[in-house]
Amino acid sequence: MDTRLPDAVREAQARMRKFVEEELVPLEPSLPPFANVLPKEDASRLVQRMRAEGLWALAVPRRFGGGGLGLVGLCALREALGHTTLWSLAPLLGSEPPILLYQANEAQQKEFLLPTLRGERYGCFALTEPGAGSDAASLSLRAEPDGEGHYVLNGTKIFISYADEADYALVFGRVPAQGGSPGGITLFLVDLDTPGVRVVRQIPTMGGARPSEIVFEDCRVPESRIVGEVGKAFELAQHWFDCDRIALQPPIALGAAARCLSLAQRHGVASSVDIAQWALQLDAAREMLYHAAWRADQDLEVRHEAAMCKTLATTTALAAIDQVMQWFGARGYSRELPMERYYRDLRRFTIAAGTVEIQQFIVARGLIRGYTGLGYEEVR
Ligand SMILES: Cc1cc2nc3c(=O)[nH]c(=O)nc-3n(C[C@H](O)[C@H](O)[C@H](O)COP(=O)(O)OP(=O)(O)OC[C@H]3O[C@@H](n4cnc5c(N)ncnc54)[C@H](O)[C@@H]3O)c2cc1C
Repeated sequence: MDTRLPDAVREAQARMRKFVEEELVPLEPSLPPFANVLPKEDASRLVQRMRAEGLWALAVPRRFGGGGLGLVGLCALREALGHTTLWSLAPLLGSEPPILLYQANEAQQKEFLLPTLRGERYGCFALTEPGAGSDAASLSLRAEPDGEGHYVLNGTKIFISYADEADYALVFGRVPAQGGSPGGITLFLVDLDTPGVRVVRQIPTMGGARPSEIVFEDCRVPESRIVGEVGKAFELAQHWFDCDRIALQPPIALGAAARCLSLAQRHGVASSVDIAQWALQLDAAREMLYHAAWRADQDLEVRHEAAMCKTLATTTALAAIDQVMQWFGARGYSRELPMERYYRDLRRFTIAAGTVEIQQFIVARGLIRGYTGLGYEEVR
């Protein structure tokens, strides 16, 4: 395996870093500490510049008009984006649609994926419920067929990121067994302006993502909005979950930690050996990240690698950011340096999209099933 990033990916990553340094880092001091959205004029200017510079949808497959850089490309772009504390501000996320939509049928892609890529619509992902977090399979949102071509959704989803701004949600609901059909957990595409669906509150947190609670009360969704088959949501979504565990949080965390570490180096607040010790841990996590992303791009199984990479990258990066804050003393804790916001914002990475404890169960299960611990056997 060639462990260098492909030239096209490195070139795109360098352009994204330039964009981050020129556009986003200068905005950091002007935004309030809990700002979770960009001022409208900045948002449209930034999206326009991303488009003009060919940075929009770069990782999206070419068949949908994207740049085709794959998961390795997405990781590289997000690693560059991690160099600003403003990485999570919503408009930029439009260039990265949920990859599950690539598996939706043509009509659904036309209605949801393509407008998302054009920056006209934005989706959120609704799995977690008040009684079903890590144990997602115990979810209870009911989706009952009404016999007239619709499913009627009743239940509550909680901690749904950016639901307040989204136009549609990917909703996991339980279809009851009926008339010989076993039913089961099913994935629906739901327009958030459908009667019977309400974003009832935003849940204040220590950082970003603006999670909200969504209530469904007799919300009628046409059966044409089922993605895949009834009862097959988890089979369909597993690859998406794994790819998200690789590409959503780890590269941001590693980019952020790299920025903090280079600040420590520049300001001379730690010995070069101390800095090197963190750099080598972050680099090990980075190697694991790109290896996992490369495997996903080869259509190889990545369940185990995704769990390892999410755990190692997020915990190592958080510990590194905490250490840099400590080296800087009071200045590190202040809002004059980026560690404070990173620390608040990235803390959720060990919880959201699968806690690190659950990831370690996945790793342990993989080991019991005979995983070699290296995972390179297929490419020798
Ligand atoms: C900022 C933020 C944004 C989010 N965005 C979304 C979103 O967009 N869409 C969405 O669907 N969800 C979202 N979530 C929810 C997130 O995915 C869940 O919080 C996560 O799956 C964990 O579930 P939980 O919070 O109910 O914790 P729990 O499952 O109750 O876990 C609590 C603790 O117990 C541990 N634990 C759980 N089960 C076991 C076990 N069997 N053995 C040992 N330890 C265990 C966990 O690791 C954790 O430490 C978001 C969460 C946050 C914080």
